[in-house]
Amino acid sequence: MTRPAVFSAADIHAALNLKDLREPLIAAMTAVSQQTAGHPPRFAAPVNAQGRMGLMYGYLQDPPVHGAKVLSLFPDAPAVGLSSHQGFVMLFDSRDGRPLAICDADALTALRTAAMSMLATQILARPDPQIITVCGAGEQADWHIRGSLAWFPTAKIRIWARRFDAARQLALTFAGASAQVTAMPDLQQAVRGSDVIHTVTAATHAFLCGDWLEPGQHINLVGASLADSRELDDAGVARVAMFTDSRESSSRESGEILGAKRAGAIAADYPVTEIGQVIENPLLGRGADTDITAYKSHGLIVQDLIAGYEMLKRRG
Ligand code: NDP
Repeated sequence: MTRPAVFSAADIHAALNLKDLREPLIAAMTAVSQQTAGHPPRFAAPVNAQGRMGLMYGYLQDPPVHGAKVLSLFPDAPAVGLSSHQGFVMLFDSRDGRPLAICDADALTALRTAAMSMLATQILARPDPQIITVCGAGEQADWHIRGSLAWFPTAKIRIWARRFDAARQLALTFAGASAQVTAMPDLQQAVRGSDVIHTVTAATHAFLCGDWLEPGQHINLVGASLADSRELDDAGVARVAMFTDSRESSSRESGEILGAKRAGAIAADYPVTEIGQVIENPLLGRGADTDITAYKSHGLIVQDLIAGYEMLKRRG
């Protein structure tokens, strides 16, 4: 067997920053919408009462890589200083099947997820957001703050978390940041006047109320990755123009859309547009300045593969 490159979290963070992934993610999302990239349904099975094992696999044609992400999903791991998503992303050369790289999944996931939300914000939100609210105070919240500071440097950041102390602690780690980062105890107040809202929690039930949303806002729904979990309520789903990384994944796994359909809050033919379609045809994106847009992030293996390939290009 040829020896694949091995990239630790430290290697990945030393070589890649969030903005480095913008162009590669644009290419991957376009490929998803053109159906030249494949991401079959992901698989997850229980290991014990604490955790599950997850497997995602897929391919891109350009660059010609395929691969898999193997994850240990342990929601309580952050309590002992570990990520809730630990594992590897493996890349193979699709021309001859050769293994190319094994990458730390946590680092790659953090970078590609936050970079994808920033890209969706750039494409769908009104230009030049001035207030960004992050819901959650975990690992992805941290990376969404870093992403927001890097991509939208003039925006003030608000953090809301169900434990105010966790929001305050996270805000403190950004004390020297280029823009103000403040913890807010009340979510409705944090949402008021925000241009962009990132929801990055492990919540299973909706906590963001559609009635609080204001014209012109953009929301990235990142946290709920299972069909039976959600962050935005039915009223919210009914109010927004919905976008996603993959319509196929949304039809299977979006707790928000599936739940709102079951409740009769939206019609069976509720429109969902892929971000790749908007990249190809910007007219499919935000209509009026007063529209409320939402990006449902499923997190696709092709995003991991393109990020791993970028790593390989820089350090392979
Ligand atoms: P962490 O465990 O590091 O953080 C989870 C955060 O969610 C904590 O702040 C936690 O608060 C909060 N939370 C948990 N339950 C609730 C609730 N009922 N209401 C409000 N807040 C709640 O996880 P990560 O940051 O790594 O991941 C967050 C979510 O993002 C997960 O659901 C994960 O599956 C998803 N994810 C999605 C990706 C994508 O591509 N779309 C990629 C990676 C992750 P507390 O500390 O009080 O428990």
